[in-house]
Amino acid sequence: MMSDDFRGLAQIRTVGKMHNHQKTLRQKIQISGRGLHTNKQIDMVLTPRPENTGVWFQRTDSPGARPVLACGANVSDTSLATTIGVGGESVSTVEHFMAALGCLGVGNLQVDINGPETPVLDGSALPWVELLSNAGLRTLNAARPYFQVRRPFELKDGDKSIFMEPSSETIVDFTIDFPGYISNQRRAFTFTENNFVAEIASARTFCLLSEVEKMQSLGKALGGGLDNAVVISGDGSVLNQEGLRFPDECVRHKILDFLGDMTLAQAPVIGRFTVEKSGHSLNQSFLATILRAPGLLELVDPAKSAPEPYLPRLAQSPGLNPAWAN
Ligand SMILES: [Zn+2]
Repeated sequence: MMSDDFRGLAQIRTVGKMHNHQKTLRQKIQISGRGLHTNKQIDMVLTPRPENTGVWFQRTDSPGARPVLACGANVSDTSLATTIGVGGESVSTVEHFMAALGCLGVGNLQVDINGPETPVLDGSALPWVELLSNAGLRTLNAARPYFQVRRPFELKDGDKSIFMEPSSETIVDFTIDFPGYISNQRRAFTFTENNFVAEIASARTFCLLSEVEKMQSLGKALGGGLDNAVVISGDGSVLNQEGLRFPDECVRHKILDFLGDMTLAQAPVIGRFTVEKSGHSLNQSFLATILRAPGLLELVDPAKSAPEPYLPRLAQSPGLNPAWAN
């Protein structure tokens, strides 16, 4: 059951709607927490940035590390989590943080981080939402562009698929099925900031106990545990004493991951998405495909009188990803 603690968060006030002005933070803030895979203490400092500059990660623990723009072209790995990086240095598990940024409309930010992954916190996006909301958001002068889906498109990988079609709202209709331990779950989520905070942000990541044990024997998920994931035993029972935050918490988390991955488009994508069993790898292949394929998306910039087709005008890593501008 959903506890009152989480229901109350629907009351968090956020400024503005999806497609109006760009935002950044009102002030510089710091957060610390354990990394899921390294189990090391990670410090992140978030600094406001001006309009049209994007979200940039900078590793501060590695001399010479280059700044990395949070965009699909800089995704360097999608196994277990979404990792962005250039030149050998990377930041992993960015998806929950990016979901919180994207869904609150924060598209301009400097992220200084002294380790290879973001803090896992409670395994959901809720602590990020609270951190950003408490720090306060600053609305910038520039309008926030967005992508409008213009044509249906589907990408499949085995039994996984993502189908998109035009819609006046962003809707994510997600189905998962893990026979034996998570029965079929389906949820259709209509995006608004308040819906995101109330229905999706607090859904935690989940895994099988046997997977945790296997990963830890390989030196991964060393910080993983019952305080930052829903852990499910082989017979399908939930090991966390407090139980689930929602009966369908798992599919809600998959929607959270999808929204976080789509944030790497650097602008909201308005359309209806029907998603079957997808994960970070297919999400990122899908995003790269729809951004490059002509005619699927149209970039709408409210600051301009006429919309234009997909543009390379969004913030880019200078000289790093020429293919991205095609
Ligand atoms: Zn996740």
